[in-house]
Amino acid sequence: MIDTGTRLLLALALAAVGVAVFACDSPGGGNGILRPAARATPPEAAARELGEGLHDDAALGRLDPALLEAVMAAAEDARTTGVDLHVTSGWRSRAHQELLLEEAVDRYGSLEEARRWVASPDFSAHVTGDAVDIGPTDGAVWMADHGSAYGLCQAFANEIWHYELLTTPGGRCPEMLPDSRSRER
Ligand SMILES: [Zn+2]
Repeated sequence: MIDTGTRLLLALALAAVGVAVFACDSPGGGNGILRPAARATPPEAAARELGEGLHDDAALGRLDPALLEAVMAAAEDARTTGVDLHVTSGWRSRAHQELLLEEAVDRYGSLEEARRWVASPDFSAHVTGDAVDIGPTDGAVWMADHGSAYGLCQAFANEIWHYELLTTPGGRCPEMLPDSRSRER
């Protein structure tokens, strides 16, 4: 027999799992592989929580340390206002970036159009560890409003989730490029 208190705790635990799974859904296109968030000592715990839903720990570990630090600080401040903010994609290998581009060619019908959404490996800031994609949508919107306080700027007008360190903390973000293809010209 389960008493009311236990039942309530179970319901809360299930609700928490539901929220965690939902949070992994990203505007940048998640990889769909979920794993339970590990609890470790900070700052590892914070970094892992930040990348909840990522399939590869190295994705955060290979980011520019200054970028990772800025995103961690932003995520922490977002959470104090009740906004969940995760890195849905961080560092990517050249091979992974190439695969994403090939998938985009299938989806958009041409390399020219695909490059508006996925940069080729030679030009992707993800490959050099200088870019993060932020999710869920509420987190990306929070970043649009507050990112510059941490030096984080939306780089491309068509990607509300893609952020790079493009100014000094509290500085002014440069004008956005229309899309990722703009850098390849
Ligand atoms: Zn991106």
